[in-house]
Amino acid sequence: MITSLLVSALFQPQGLPVVKADELKRYVSYLASDELKGRGTPSPELIKASEYIAAELTKLGVQPGVGQSFFQSTKWERGRGAGEEVRNVIGLLPGSDPVLSKEYVVVSAHYDHLGEAKEGEDKIFNGANDDASGVAGVLGVAAAIAKSKPKRSIIFMAFYGEERGLVGSSFYAKNPVFPLKNTVAMLNIEQIGRTDDSEGPRVGQCNLTGFNFSTIGPTCAKVGKEVGVPVIEHPQFSAPYFMASDNAAFAAAGVPAHTFSVAYEFSDYHRVGDHADKLDYNNMAKITGMIAACTLQIANSGSVPSWNKYQKRVARYIEAYEKLQGKPPVSQTNRGS
Ligand SMILES: [Zn+2]
Repeated sequence: MITSLLVSALFQPQGLPVVKADELKRYVSYLASDELKGRGTPSPELIKASEYIAAELTKLGVQPGVGQSFFQSTKWERGRGAGEEVRNVIGLLPGSDPVLSKEYVVVSAHYDHLGEAKEGEDKIFNGANDDASGVAGVLGVAAAIAKSKPKRSIIFMAFYGEERGLVGSSFYAKNPVFPLKNTVAMLNIEQIGRTDDSEGPRVGQCNLTGFNFSTIGPTCAKVGKEVGVPVIEHPQFSAPYFMASDNAAFAAAGVPAHTFSVAYEFSDYHRVGDHADKLDYNNMAKITGMIAACTLQIANSGSVPSWNKYQKRVARYIEAYEKLQGKPPVSQTNRGS
């Protein structure tokens, strides 16, 4: 009797994946430190940040995604800094299923920010919430799922040049390292640290942009409910913010792609005061755990996400999907979860 009770106590229920708040704080504190001077694209400090992210992914057991390297390098082409090196950071967690491992789920965030202001007492745009928090989320998801052997392969990505017009993600979409045709979903992460939304506090829940544009919204809502972190559709911002982050570059290429955010508008948005000490790391750990659970759900599912053909705004993404796949999306009335 006692023995069996002890044995059953060893089995954890399928709850919220555990993500450590102090690890998230460590990632953000470094990426948003004055030492990295606001991670402008391009800059030596952005290169330094890319090396930090690659080192942390390595510690978590994630493999290099570009041959032996974590870096998809190219030259910055226009305006300030033209000719300097820029990099996307790409890590791979190979899938465990012989067939499904050739399909990919992307978990991503941008690691650049605005660099430095020309004048002022505090010149550095630290970008703690935007988007060191997202990069910390990517690392937190990697930590939470690295040992759980998902069936599909997971690609962890950190993009340069988001703040200069989704440049890193657009470069990847034009030069994919893993075939976009086999990339079944992209879960992008932006601004998951601040809970003090200008509309009021946002604790214990998370928005998803373009909530009803694909089956990913309803799937994540179901997972969120199961793990106790609701995934919601912002009544006003769900659609407009769909275009405002790196998921848009993947969506334009046909890949179902969305962005998780806790607060859309907060007081230090694109200001020098977006500092690491203003983030709620305990809440962020819960949000990251939920994103890890959604990642696993999509990576292990018997079906793949699909664009929602009943949404008018989605027509262009379905067109891109058809071009990419050479066939229309599977009819949603025929598919399971
Ligand atoms: Zn951002």
